[in-house]
Amino acid sequence: MASKNQDGHHEAMIDVEDALSKILAVFSPLSTQKRDILRTNGMVLAEDIISGINIPPLDNSAMDGYAVKYENIQNASLKNPKSLKVVATTAAGELPYLTLFDNESVRIMTGAPIPMGANAVVPFEETGDKLNAINSKIANEVRIHTSSFLGQHVRKAGQDVKSGETILHSGTVLHPSHIALIASVGKAFVKVFRRPEVAILATGNEITKPGNNLQTGKIYDSNSYGIASAVLEAGGNPAIVGIARDNFESIEKKLNKCSGSDLVITSAGVSKGDFDIVKDVLSKNGTIEFHSVRMKPGKPLAFGGLNQNGKLIPLVGLPGNPVSALVAFEQFCRPAIRLMLGHKFVPRATITAILDDEIDNQDGRRIYARAIVYKKHDIYHVSLSGFQSSNILSAMAKANGLAICPENKPVIKAGETVTVMMLYWPSEVF
Ligand code: AMP
Ligand code: MG
Repeated sequence: MASKNQDGHHEAMIDVEDALSKILAVFSPLSTQKRDILRTNGMVLAEDIISGINIPPLDNSAMDGYAVKYENIQNASLKNPKSLKVVATTAAGELPYLTLFDNESVRIMTGAPIPMGANAVVPFEETGDKLNAINSKIANEVRIHTSSFLGQHVRKAGQDVKSGETILHSGTVLHPSHIALIASVGKAFVKVFRRPEVAILATGNEITKPGNNLQTGKIYDSNSYGIASAVLEAGGNPAIVGIARDNFESIEKKLNKCSGSDLVITSAGVSKGDFDIVKDVLSKNGTIEFHSVRMKPGKPLAFGGLNQNGKLIPLVGLPGNPVSALVAFEQFCRPAIRLMLGHKFVPRATITAILDDEIDNQDGRRIYARAIVYKKHDIYHVSLSGFQSSNILSAMAKANGLAICPENKPVIKAGETVTVMMLYWPSEVF
């Protein structure tokens, strides 16, 4: 039976920054693909988008009302209305078929192109025609209750976007407003960086798939589910490979199913126990860069390349403890996924908050304490979300951030400020 690690990869524990830069060094934005814009929200644009048209395409009305020559109604008021002849009615989607002459008007709806000769729009509310109903009987005349100016309530052609203009640059993270903008210039497909395929493998003799009966001595697999959800949240496509048992053959067999992945994430089996053999499998079938990081939680963390048909697939071996797995995912896997997606800025945002509790750092590792950030009198405060052991998922589930105690700081006292890496931005807090 495989026992303690005999692979000779016992280099010293490395710093979080070193670990992150070693990991990020092997990733870059993935290949690009043309994609239906409806399926690009949150993805990163891989081309400049140039509009072939003006938006709006023609001068058009910003209001329901009357298209006029502003010169004809210069002194009009409620007391001294100006009567104009109504020569037509026009709605969005139609083309004006006539030219307006002096003292004429056209009943016009929002979005309808401005007739030739008109240069302003008077809203219904400023006229004697208050019905504002398209089906009401259209009078031959309308009384205008207000003066106007050149271009009032007229949306000029090209006001939003000009033909030939670059409306979005490669590298833009697409949000609903961007997707609307792309649609507005008539494009249905755009080039984006594809999503990474991320294989997720749980290891352990004790691990049971949720939904099944739990035998004595076993525990349910929470890691695969938390990691898969975190992969999704980061923008990757998670694929749960299953559960490998703590023996070389079982892990190797499952890992052989990951050849199509951009990243493999395993959990457990990377510390110093008798059955922690993920590292052994990796060193036989690939390379190990490091397997221990100066952080808490998350110290046992392996990173290397899994050899699949001559190709090295990056593998992050997360610790088994569920809190360690999620915290380490945040530090290393999420940035890698963001990088593959083409994001330029990959870390989580941090804030500074006043600490309610004390954080003790006994062994010079970087601590990521599970914490709840809240706002009081416009100042951020943060309190620890519960017992800080790396198996206490309930405290992780209460947290919206990770309060960071640096490696070289033995203690952060209550009342001092602390940097917090934000995991969620609950709107009731911010
Ligand atoms: P290990 O790294 O294998 O020593 O595991 C550390 C701890 O994490 C042990 O208490 C395991 O039972 C637990 N653990 C390992 N894998 C999982 C998992 N998939 N879900 C929940 N807990 C796990
Ligand atoms: Mg184990």
